[in-house]
Amino acid sequence: MSRYRVTCIPGDGIGPEIMAAAKVVIAAAGVDIEWIDVEAGAEVMDKYGTPLPEAVLESIRETRVALKGPITTPVGSGFRSVNVGLRKELDLYANLRPAVSIPGVKSRFENVDLVVVRENTEDLYAGVEHRVGADAAESIKIITRQGSERIARFAFEYARREGRRKVTAVHKANIMKLTDGLFLEVAGEVASEYPDIGFEDRIVDNMCMQLVQKPEQYDVLLCPNLYGDILSDLCAGLVGGLGVAPGANIGAEAAVFEPVHGSAPKYAGLDKADPTALILSAVLMLRHLGEGAAARAVYQAVCNVIREGRQVTYDLGGTAGTREMGEAIAREVARLLTDQSAGGG
Ligand code: NAD
Repeated sequence: MSRYRVTCIPGDGIGPEIMAAAKVVIAAAGVDIEWIDVEAGAEVMDKYGTPLPEAVLESIRETRVALKGPITTPVGSGFRSVNVGLRKELDLYANLRPAVSIPGVKSRFENVDLVVVRENTEDLYAGVEHRVGADAAESIKIITRQGSERIARFAFEYARREGRRKVTAVHKANIMKLTDGLFLEVAGEVASEYPDIGFEDRIVDNMCMQLVQKPEQYDVLLCPNLYGDILSDLCAGLVGGLGVAPGANIGAEAAVFEPVHGSAPKYAGLDKADPTALILSAVLMLRHLGEGAAARAVYQAVCNVIREGRQVTYDLGGTAGTREMGEAIAREVARLLTDQSAGGG
């Protein structure tokens, strides 16, 4: 069996508790991982003079894979978000956020199975903004052919690899004819290289309405940064909210897997937080590593424990703590894998 080296950033707030639960689950899946634990966030500022020490980046550059808990970004403190810093420094240009209905998780829909592919480096998030005198401010929306092409290619390659049928490009090219127009033009060009995958486009406001009315019609959503940020939270809401929403930031050289949610400081240290989103992020990581069987077992175990509903956290209607839910999922992973090997499968 391969032995992987994976950088682990437990994060702060509820991060360390959900990370401990995720590690127990991954160990039960029999994947041999050497965790390289590194620290980032406000708490390391005094020690390193930065919330994102160079050692963290060096470790991820070397291992090329990281599992990350949430990190608090103090409002107005002046230091830039560790999350944004990581994406920029490692050029993690693709943000992947699946939204898949899990039976037993309360939500308005039962049959959502889509994934938001968000461009992670350009658009209004490039950080090019300035004040114009006392009473005005400008922010520059940057869309490039290269940035649009690599995210479009990522979306189509992902669709092909995962057996998905259709990519929908999301834009506002009717108004922003040059920027969103370029994004849409490039998406169309890349689409023509993938005749086996359907392609369509939607204006972002219409997309929002369509998603809350008939989300089952969508498959892979290809979005520039800002629309992708907003739509991925909308899509998390379609399948039961932040507690169950996983994510990945992927670049050519490295990938960082993390839940969509933040550090939920009010639950820190209380053994209350739902570990599901981080465990499902670990499922994405296991698939990325090529550990398909382990990924399937963990995913199935999460579904089984949630469907059964006895050992789940408060947000899923239960009374279990983070640790208890993690241990229940780990036991179920072990049971599934034992059944499988006993059945020869
Ligand atoms: P949040 O996601 O931390 O929490 C919002 C609410 O969602 C919580 O109060 C809680 O009710 C619920 N929640 C979130 N995760 C949960 C879980 N695992 N189990 C159960 N309930 C859960 O959002 P926020 O309060 O806006 O942000 C808190 C901090 O996290 C901020 O400093 C923010 O900058 C940071 N943040 C970090 C990341 C990241 O590290 N990628 C992402 C988002 C926010």
